[in-house]
Amino acid sequence: MSFKYIFGPVLSSRLGRSLGVDLLGKKICDFDCLYCEVGKTEVHTLKRAVYVSREEIFEELQKWFALGLPEPDFITLGGQGEPCLNQDLGKIIQDIKRIAPRIPVAVLTNGSLMMDEQVRQEINLADVVLPSLDTVIETEFQKLNRPCPGLSLKEIIAGLLAWRKEFKGKVFLEILLVPGINDSLENLQGLQEFCLQFKAHRVDVVGMTRPGAYLKDCVFDEKLINEWKKILQSGVESRGSRAKSRKSAAGSTYPNQLNWSEQILASLTRRPQTKEDLALALGMDEKEVKKILNQLEGKKIVTKLYDCKSAKEFYTLKR
Ligand code: SF4
Repeated sequence: MSFKYIFGPVLSSRLGRSLGVDLLGKKICDFDCLYCEVGKTEVHTLKRAVYVSREEIFEELQKWFALGLPEPDFITLGGQGEPCLNQDLGKIIQDIKRIAPRIPVAVLTNGSLMMDEQVRQEINLADVVLPSLDTVIETEFQKLNRPCPGLSLKEIIAGLLAWRKEFKGKVFLEILLVPGINDSLENLQGLQEFCLQFKAHRVDVVGMTRPGAYLKDCVFDEKLINEWKKILQSGVESRGSRAKSRKSAAGSTYPNQLNWSEQILASLTRRPQTKEDLALALGMDEKEVKKILNQLEGKKIVTKLYDCKSAKEFYTLKR
């Protein structure tokens, strides 16, 4: 048994063991970020549409839960692009809550569509939203995030602030720093002001640790990240901002009808991971994961790279 749109669980520092749902089916986004780990944007669009139908997602979720696997900490909507571009976002969240009422739903978003009241109403059905905002400076935004024509940073920021006033759940903001592009003092000051108004439950400042769609060499400056963290996290209260403690699925009895090779592939399509992370998240034996990865590497389907920060080996799809 394999799944087209459900992947993982993957281990997330912010969400614990998170079962992913891909609402796009391929790389569809209104941004085309230099650092995107998923790859170059294939469909660069602002158009909301049914890229994957709610029925298909519903069926796959039902199949996944029927397997009796250990429950994930979160069900996370994201995948290979911007999930808010799926016009059934709200209905899909409602469906998930019917199938798995005890599991909180998270949405990963670049925040670009929050000026749309309909999108805000739909995303407000989630329990946790993880928006990103790398810069408040238009020139940096154009260079780093490469938005679709017609997207204005000013409007995106206004949309995020309007949405923040409405949303009752948790908000984890992420800022990715690329030295030489968005590390200006002007951006730091602007983001500081934004964070004071936005009042996220958690602010993560991160860097590139893996090669991106256009930036093949990771540009990671730990000192810079720590300095920005100190400043941007200073106004953030500790309001239950930690993800639930990680529940390992190790030791669970997994049904053997699952096609593990496809499960691993589905997970790596959305996120590069180490073999240890894959084993822990999927509850598999590390040796078995390694065996499958070797086979996929031999067939030139996956490739091994090095994480610049941790110097660990991780696997990604060969593109
Ligand atoms: S990083 Fe996110 S917002 Fe940027 S191109 Fe990739 S999926 Fe889209």
